[in-house]
This record gives sequence, C-alpha cells and structure tokens, in this order.
Amino acid sequence: MSRAAGKASYDAIIAGAGIVGAACADEFSRRGMKVAVLDREIVGSGATAAGMGHIVVMDDSEAQFALTRYSQQLWQALKPELPDDVEYEQCGTVWVAADEEEMAEVGRKREYYAERRVPTEVLDAKSLKQLEPNLRDGMAGGLLVPEDAVLYPPCAARFLIERAQKRGAELRPGASVVQIGQGRVGLSDGSEIAAEIIVNATGTWAPELTPRIEIRKRKGHLLITDRYPGFLRHQLVELGYLKSAHSVGSDSVAFNVQPRRTGQILIGSSRQYGAEHKDVDHIMLERMLRRAVEYMPGLRPMSAVRAWTGFRAATPDKLPLIGPWPGDKSVYLAAGHEGLGITTSLGTARILADQITGSKTEIPIEPYLPSRTVKERVHA
Ligand SMILES: Cc1cc2nc3c(=O)[nH]c(=O)nc-3n(C[C@H](O)[C@H](O)[C@H](O)COP(=O)(O)OP(=O)(O)OC[C@H]3O[C@@H](n4cnc5c(N)ncnc54)[C@H](O)[C@@H]3O)c2cc1C
Repeated sequence: MSRAAGKASYDAIIAGAGIVGAACADEFSRRGMKVAVLDREIVGSGATAAGMGHIVVMDDSEAQFALTRYSQQLWQALKPELPDDVEYEQCGTVWVAADEEEMAEVGRKREYYAERRVPTEVLDAKSLKQLEPNLRDGMAGGLLVPEDAVLYPPCAARFLIERAQKRGAELRPGASVVQIGQGRVGLSDGSEIAAEIIVNATGTWAPELTPRIEIRKRKGHLLITDRYPGFLRHQLVELGYLKSAHSVGSDSVAFNVQPRRTGQILIGSSRQYGAEHKDVDHIMLERMLRRAVEYMPGLRPMSAVRAWTGFRAATPDKLPLIGPWPGDKSVYLAAGHEGLGITTSLGTARILADQITGSKTEIPIEPYLPSRTVKERVHA
C-alpha cells in the first residue's frame, strides 16, 4: 500500500475486528463490497473476548427490543452454518423471580413479549425447580424465553471474518488506526489507505477515532468454573438484574449464570463506571459470587478456573450508534453496544449495510442514528 492514498482502494474499511466489525465485514462482503478490516490486535480481542455470549431479547425500550429480537432471529437463521467451536446452543433464558414482586414483573414481561410474538412460558415455583433443580428453594417462579441462546464470542467473530475473507475481504491484524475521515484511514506507521466508506467499530475505543462521541467504559467481571455437566441447563438471570443493569449511578452485581457446552459454568456479572483498570477487583468479584451462591448454593464448593474483566461501551441513552457520522460523510459508526454487542452484532451489520447501500431496513433505524447525539453541536 502506498504511503499517500490515491483513488479509493476499498469500498469500505472497517476499523476494529471485534464481533461488530466482523459482522459488518461479513455483511458488506455478502453484498459484493470490497472490504478491509483493520485491528491493532487480533480478531475478537477486545470486549468480544471478555463477553458472556448470551444471545438475548431485551425489553428495556422499544428500540432495544427491536434490535435484540431482529438479531436473535438472525443468529437462529445462521445456526446451520456455525462451526462447532462457536458452541451455539439454544438453551433459552430463565428470568428468575425471587419473590411475588418479581413475579409481577414476569407477568409484565410475558405480556410485552406476547404482544410482539416472542414465545415465553411462565414458570411457577414447582416448574422452575423442575427445570433448574440447583436453584435454592423458595423462589417464586420465572419466565422461560426458549429462543434465547448462548455462544462462544471469539470463535463467532473469527467465523464471520473468515466468511468475509472467503469473499475477498482483507484482514489486517496489527494495523493500528490513528485517524479516520474524508475517505482516508491513517495508520500508526504513517501510511494511509483510501476508502469510500470507513466504519468505526472500535468499541470502547471509538471516541479516539471519532472524538465527539460519548462512550464510557463500563467494567464487568466474569468467572468460569471447572466442568460440572448437568448442573445448569439454561442461562439464568435474576429479574433484579434489570434494576442493576440499567442503573447508571452505582456499581452493581447480579445473578447471571450460563451453561457452557463443556459443562463449565460461566458466572456473571458486575457493572462499574469509573473503574478503568483491567485488574480483577476482588471485592467486586466476591460480591458477584456471593450473589450467585445466594441463588445457587451448589456453586459454592465448585472450583474456579479463571476470572477476568472486560469493558462494555456504554452510551448515555443505552442504545448503540449505528449509521453515518454527521461530521464526515465518509465515516459511519458501529459502536456503543454496551452489554448486548454479541447479540446485536448481526442486526447492526444488516442495518448499517442497508443504510450504506440505500436498501430498506427491516427495523426502524432512527433510534440508533449517531446524529441523535450530536445535533446541537454539529449544526451549531
Ligand atoms: C463482562 C461482559 C459480559 C458481556 N456479556 C454479553 C452477553 O452476554 N451478550 C452480549 O450480547 N454482549 C455481552 N457483552 C457485550 C459485548 O461483549 C460487547 O458489546 C461486544 O463484544 C462489542 O463488540 P465490538 O466489536 O463493538 O468491540 P470489541 O470487541 O471491543 O472490538 C473492538 C476492536 O477494535 C480494535 N481497536 C480499537 N482501537 C483500534 C484502533 N485505533 N485501530 C485498530 N483497531 C482498534 C480492538 O483491538 C478490538 O479488537 C459483555 C461485555 C462484557 C464486558
């Protein structure tokens, strides 16, 4: 590649080969675009390597529901093509209600999903115990969402990139982008590459390349156990999770456990703003595990294999930024997916490709447009 960029070498350059950049590469190449994907590390090495891999429909807002449901269905459709190491399992989610107040939330959630044709099943205390015998006694019940799934995110990202490569996409690991705009991508070695479209898919790092966007790091801890086949059958999440996941003020933990195909149990999760260090915070980890043991006492004697942290890319309105950046017509954003980027990667790629190619989108795109965050400043 020459140091000075001339005519556009690619239809699109994607900065970031996490699951979002990988999904974009896959979708763009499927539509015949000539694509390059640049990552300063390797495929799936950012939040994608740290994430839990729960493919989940959420109902915090209509926009969140639309993107998660659309994406969950895209994952379902992709299932026959996913290689074994992606470990896609449609195990379903059980939202666990600890008391009658949370059972009322089960009813509300069921109704919301029923109105939008998402299958669910309300579980009373007895049927919950039958489905998940290792939950502690005395739970009020729960809501089973059988179309939710789990997968192993780094392998999913790798699969999407490799599929794009088979269609001619170019992957450049170790390529650190320092600047984007006006159809140019500047690299740390001083070279430049030209492209008509540049996608900023660098997750929590996105503001380094597009300085006016507001993305904060939200730290999370996870721990994986040794193998205990059969102990857990569904992804279990406490209904109180909604309170903690969506509170923006304080540090929080919630019971959130996932069965892995290996028989291991992935235990989450915590949320912290203002904690920028990658180290495991033992106080936070202990709080998280105490919560898990409160719900499943049988977890206490299990051996842990590893604990780690990762950072979610959080936007102020809890929705991702997907679409053209109003400050530069060559730049598009695909970032800010907070705790749902594994789920929503496929939907993100579809609606971004639709916008770029002028195609009709299957869900309304307005809630995700980056212009919503910068109107005043850009047009001032
Ligand atoms: C603890 C935890 C649990 C989670 N659980 C779930 C879950 O169960 N389900 C779910 O759907 N989501 C979950 N998430 C969220 C999910 O992991 C993220 O939303 C998703 O991985 C974001 O993907 P991404 O591609 O946007 O970013 P990343 O995976 O962070 O990728 C960004 C990439 O950009 C590269 N990059 C950065 N700057 C540059 C640069 N200047 N030049 C070149 N390359 C650059 C990085 O190296 C990186 O590879 C979880 C996240 C955490 C932290």
